[in-house]
Amino acid sequence: MTPPNVLAASMGTLIETAREIARTVTAKHTESDDREARWPEETMRALASAGLTGLQVPRSLGGHGQGMVGLVAISEIIAQESGSAGLCFAMHCVGTAVLAAKATDYHRERYLRPIARGEHLTTLALSEPGTGSFFYVPETKATRVGDEIELTGIKGFVTNGGHADSYIVSTAPFSDEGEEGQFNCVVLEKELPGESWDSSWGGFGMRSNESRTLRLNGVRIPGANLLGDPGDELWYMFEVVAPYFLMAMAGTYLGVAQAAFDEARNHVATRRYSHSGELLGAAPVISHRIGELWTTLEATRQLIYSAAAKGDAGSSDALSSILACKASAADTAVTIANEAMTLCGGSAYRDNGRLSRILRDARASHVMAPTTDILKTWLGRSLLDLPLL
Ligand SMILES: Cc1cc2nc3c(=O)[nH]c(=O)nc-3n(C[C@H](O)[C@H](O)[C@H](O)COP(=O)(O)OP(=O)(O)OC[C@H]3O[C@@H](n4cnc5c(N)ncnc54)[C@H](O)[C@@H]3O)c2cc1C
Repeated sequence: MTPPNVLAASMGTLIETAREIARTVTAKHTESDDREARWPEETMRALASAGLTGLQVPRSLGGHGQGMVGLVAISEIIAQESGSAGLCFAMHCVGTAVLAAKATDYHRERYLRPIARGEHLTTLALSEPGTGSFFYVPETKATRVGDEIELTGIKGFVTNGGHADSYIVSTAPFSDEGEEGQFNCVVLEKELPGESWDSSWGGFGMRSNESRTLRLNGVRIPGANLLGDPGDELWYMFEVVAPYFLMAMAGTYLGVAQAAFDEARNHVATRRYSHSGELLGAAPVISHRIGELWTTLEATRQLIYSAAAKGDAGSSDALSSILACKASAADTAVTIANEAMTLCGGSAYRDNGRLSRILRDARASHVMAPTTDILKTWLGRSLLDLPLL
């Protein structure tokens, strides 16, 4: 992969550090973690030790102060070796960005500085079984009790579940105060009374990202753990949660797509037939297909990095590009992984190995909210000047 020219000079050695971790740590554990549905502990620890988990923390607090371009670049590198590890890292980064967006001094000291030091992992807990893909209408109940907030509800598919130190949880508005709006975001710390986890994750793909169900039964958190002010929810949704989440997922699934392409290319570039001495890749239809796949991959990469750069620059036309990114990355990852499975022949299918994992991981892209269908609908509405929701 050649880093696109939008990569900021401010990224310094971050790219090289991430590549080194992906090569020397992630690659060693990916297959066994997938087989055992085990959380990618070694990769996450290495990223934390190298300071990369502080990617989205402002420089003034000891972090790297990176925006969406940095998030895409590092997520892509890790996801090329392991989609699950890329996803775990990316969800931590999105959680960090949400924390940093309107942080108080308390949030800075308690969460952001420890994140910058690699001592604290966070993640997003938005989805619920009731509202499913419609993650922006949470039903988790939040009630003010004196200086505290009491939480009751169920959060599904919490990536890094049981491994993070904190969870960015969306809740329904404080209905007891007659507040209007769609949701609030709070920071929930691990292992509080009333928190419990359902059984471990054993998904079809992304098997080592531990996306578990979290039950909240009257969990009390300090009132100071509310992020932003009541009424900020649309600002949070469209300025922070959605853009960072979409770009993080776009980077992750771009990495999965690149991994699938590499498998296909390597196979057709090295498979030689004994009866004819011919390389598989020399067959015109095969080289044609490799060319097509590369074009799809590269078009998606350019879309993603240009959207991230627009997002970081605050361009007025960033929204449509950002909406298109995750859907495009999902289509590209699934298409290339499917095609690669054909190009790599029966041996790849028989071995149920690396390519099989990549194909299973790629499939998660379509169902992670905002799902591909919903994103394309939102994109169309934004291009038609219609309200997204
Ligand atoms: C690997 C993985 C990791 C995840 N990690 C996290 C996480 O860390 N945090 C988190 O909060 N959530 C996470 N999620 C949850 C995810 O974002 C979704 O919320 C969840 O997958 C929705 O699942 P559901 O079964 O309720 O889908 P459903 O809501 O039942 O949707 C089923 C299908 O119907 C489609 N659909 C629904 N309504 C419409 C419509 N009006 N028009 C067209 N199509 C429609 C959807 O696009 C989807 O394809 C994760 C999910 C996966 C698979």
